[in-house]
Amino acid sequence: MSESNTLHWQNLSREHLLPPFSDYRELNAKGARIITRASGVYLWDSKGNRILDGMAGLWCVNIGYGREELVEAAARQMRELPYYNLFFQTAHTPALELANAIAGIAPIGMDHVFFTGSGSESNDTVLRMVRHYWMTKGQPQKQVIIGRWNGYHGSTVAGASLGGMKAMHEQAGLLISGIEHIDQPYWYGEGDDLDPDEFGIRVAEQLEQKILEVGEDKVAAFIAEPIQGAGGVIIPPDSYWPKIREILARYDILFIADEVICGFGRTGEWFGSDYYGNAPDLMPIAKGLTSGYLPMGGVIVRDKVVQVLNEGGEFYHGFTYSGHPVAAAVALENLRILKEENILERVKAKTSPYLQKRWRELADHPLVGEVRGLGMLGALELVKDKQTRERFPGAIGMRCREHCLDNGLVMRAVGDTMIISPPLVINEEEIDELVTKARLCLDLTARDARA
Ligand SMILES: *Cc1c(COP(=O)(O)O)cnc(C)c1O
Repeated sequence: MSESNTLHWQNLSREHLLPPFSDYRELNAKGARIITRASGVYLWDSKGNRILDGMAGLWCVNIGYGREELVEAAARQMRELPYYNLFFQTAHTPALELANAIAGIAPIGMDHVFFTGSGSESNDTVLRMVRHYWMTKGQPQKQVIIGRWNGYHGSTVAGASLGGMKAMHEQAGLLISGIEHIDQPYWYGEGDDLDPDEFGIRVAEQLEQKILEVGEDKVAAFIAEPIQGAGGVIIPPDSYWPKIREILARYDILFIADEVICGFGRTGEWFGSDYYGNAPDLMPIAKGLTSGYLPMGGVIVRDKVVQVLNEGGEFYHGFTYSGHPVAAAVALENLRILKEENILERVKAKTSPYLQKRWRELADHPLVGEVRGLGMLGALELVKDKQTRERFPGAIGMRCREHCLDNGLVMRAVGDTMIISPPLVINEEEIDELVTKARLCLDLTARDARA
């Protein structure tokens, strides 16, 4: 495709499109990169460049691009029943079969699903559902939800308030009332000279301090991602989740594990909570549920919570597209492929150990202060000084990201943390290509940094 086509589309973007999470002036000056097609783990842009998608879209294309079975499932369902809803005592087979399939892979005792259109809607649902739960139980004062700074739970008003992205709060006059935050378990960034496990315990203990400060009788729930994704692939120290479990066991509050990224195989288990041995009461899901082929989310709910909701009268909440039949048919097909092709087993036994081994080789690079990763997730901390962890002035992460795109790799920058979350179907050869390209881009970034 020609250069002039690219300019045409870049102009359409300037003239008509307001894209999410973008600085419009900066983007308009530069021009958007136009993605035209995809297959397997690769994207192509309008100039014909092939790009290895190290982010699986936005953490979602778990089975890779171009699976005809999902196309067929969507077409079949559109012909049969393109739309109906789950409101007012109706249901349809795709949503019912999908709820059943999800219950089959969810942790024991989590057998019900409330469907939504996205991860953000799932977290809005969670806020409404836990408050309704406590009201039904006769404890209406239990309203406060405790989240974590730098957590990400989506971009709707409730999602952004539950999340701990301060820039999002400031721009929109958030938080909404009844939400509190504690520190994140980000050892490299905030652990100073503490040993990682000691740091993990300390930040976990903040949960107990916050519960006592607010009052157990006012706390409804704690929400956290098993591994923070958008915050920069923050993998808690080993001591963190056991300590959190210990605290949760002492207090009568609900535990919400936001599985929007970790769900559907990202850690090599079905859910991040399985990986860590956590037992949440509610699990918001989205992204990998359909491998991103259609928008869909949901909340998986523990039976003991459902028992209370059953006594609560009408739940005044839902979306036109809750359980959308076409999205549900695609999600079912996606789950079938994940299971029948043993994709999680392969991630666990072969490709994630290989990715993690190769990824850690980048630790010797002069710009890299820390390499971390787990399952099909990875992060690199870019620093000026490995000893002191001093950062570069200016946005070195964005420079690195630019070099990656120019050299055929999508690697995302969260500040000066470079992150990856490739499709779960990535093979060893493609992992080699990813790591080789990442090193090349680190070299180019180091050259810029010296200049
Ligand atoms: C992406 C994400 C969300 C929001 O999902 P959307 O589909 O973008 O609304 C919520 N929680 C986590 C952990 C996410 O990564």
